[in-house]
Amino acid sequence: MPAALSVLRQRLWRQYRALARRVRTMTSQGPLTPGSFYLLQRRCGKPSCRCARGQLHRVWVLTRSEAGQHKLYTVPADQRAQVRHWAAAWRRYQRARARLIQQITALIALADQIAEAQRVQWPPP
Ligand SMILES: [Zn+2]
Repeated sequence: MPAALSVLRQRLWRQYRALARRVRTMTSQGPLTPGSFYLLQRRCGKPSCRCARGQLHRVWVLTRSEAGQHKLYTVPADQRAQVRHWAAAWRRYQRARARLIQQITALIALADQIAEAQRVQWPPP
């Protein structure tokens, strides 16, 4: 079925170009750092502290897993904007990476369909 084959080929090359764009996006993120950056609010445990009355301690942190260990780093005020930016770049990279895996899987599925459409029966029945 030559018409179906040419449609499949068009889809495959479209998918291939989308894949190239994804790789470009992934590799042009700039500096990044793994982890989640967020405002942690907590009680210190001292009964006389203001946090015991509801005014929680607030600290900006970066958390990540390192060699299976959950790590938490306090981010100094003067580095907050930078770390926020790097962590956001990391998140974008991870999202793009997940999409790339989906796209590669779709590309392989199309290549398989093309191979199937071109398959010959040998030896003949
Ligand atoms: Zn406290």
